[in-house]
Amino acid sequence: MTLPVCQLHSKVATSVCLSHEKFLCTKCLLEKVEEGDSCIKRDLTEIKDKDKTHVSFLLIKLSAAKTEEQIKLRLFQIDKEHEYLVQRVKDDRDELIDDINKKATTALKGIEEESRKLKSKYEKF
Ligand SMILES: [Zn+2]
Ligand SMILES: [Zn+2]
Repeated sequence: MTLPVCQLHSKVATSVCLSHEKFLCTKCLLEKVEEGDSCIKRDLTEIKDKDKTHVSFLLIKLSAAKTEEQIKLRLFQIDKEHEYLVQRVKDDRDELIDDINKKATTALKGIEEESRKLKSKYEKF
């Protein structure tokens, strides 16, 4: 059974407003949340039989909402992880390209120098 939690403060609920389907914690009560004329508040320890089904239904709804939230969070994390991995591959690629470019430049310089040396040898004659 899911512990009833107030959605406003994420605290364990002690009562419920049946008309607005909201669980209320002690902070809610202190801040006088759900004090409207249409509010039907019940202490969770004193739920009458006729209201029990309604309260259980609210608990199921609450736990379903929580599961949905967790799924959304996981999907968000997967997206972030994906983004991070793509970025890492791109960074690695850029680094490798840089490295190859540097090596190619050094090799080309070496070839230039080598051919200049060879040429100057023959130009002496
Ligand atoms: Zn609360
Ligand atoms: Zn209410």
